[in-house]
Amino acid sequence: MSAPRKRFGQHFLVEPRVIARIVEAVHPQLGERLVEIGPGRGALTGPLLEQAGHLTVIEIDRDLAAALQARYPEGQLTVYCADALRFDFGALGSELRLVGNLPYNVSTPLLFHLERFAAEVRDMHFMLQKEVVERMVAFPGTAQYGRLSVALQYRFHIERLFAIGPRAFRPAPRVDSAFVRLVPYQRLPYPAQVEALFREMVTAAFSQRRKMLRNALSAYLEEADWAALGLDPQRRPETLGVPEFVAAANYVAERHSVAGQREGASDRSNRP
Ligand code: SAM
Repeated sequence: MSAPRKRFGQHFLVEPRVIARIVEAVHPQLGERLVEIGPGRGALTGPLLEQAGHLTVIEIDRDLAAALQARYPEGQLTVYCADALRFDFGALGSELRLVGNLPYNVSTPLLFHLERFAAEVRDMHFMLQKEVVERMVAFPGTAQYGRLSVALQYRFHIERLFAIGPRAFRPAPRVDSAFVRLVPYQRLPYPAQVEALFREMVTAAFSQRRKMLRNALSAYLEEADWAALGLDPQRRPETLGVPEFVAAANYVAERHSVAGQREGASDRSNRP
């Protein structure tokens, strides 16, 4: 067996009680579309496969992917040797149940990547560094609250299920871990009219989180807009909850669409 590869964040689960607890939390049923990200040496793969009947896995490490392919028949396990950060999860169908003890070195970009496939996802269960889970569920105004919190809380109901110490893994990571469940909202509680604009404004706000809103979002909103929105422009971006970010983005989207309509109308009136 090849030695664990640090560059792929390989820390393999070796504690049977933790593995059992994870499988119990996921509760796979026969015929469901289960997808495991980073199966590694298969600590979760076998037990998940047993209950779901079939499993799709995405593993970046060629040796590990080949070993899994050799261990299970094709009818039971579909192996993609690929980078999950670039993987098109939408191509796997709908009602996906994503599971993984994720590589901690790329977990934040991976969560941002996965967030975009929420429409195809039924739920996601992930093992992550404890601090990342704290950021995912953080409340506005706390040090942990940031772009990741807003992006995920916009789309998912997030539940921190349990904590796991380093000794459940080989090699043991230097950090504590936590297991988390994300379920996409059937109907978004606070839908953004233009999601790309919402994302852009949240990114702009948190790239200058110590600044006042007035300055951090000056490219989008002017002084009078803050009054119209009922938001104090002296607040810091990190104090805004999802509904307030959505309200700000929708205000800008609305104004653009009104301006666009006006331009369209004046274009038409200029026509000979
Ligand atoms: N699931 C196994 C377990 O619990 O023992 C392994 C977990 S280990 C923390 C993370 C796994 O993700 C490794 O097998 C690693 O090779 C794989 N991995 C790392 N980066 C990846 C990426 N970008 N795409 C897909 N798999 C990746």
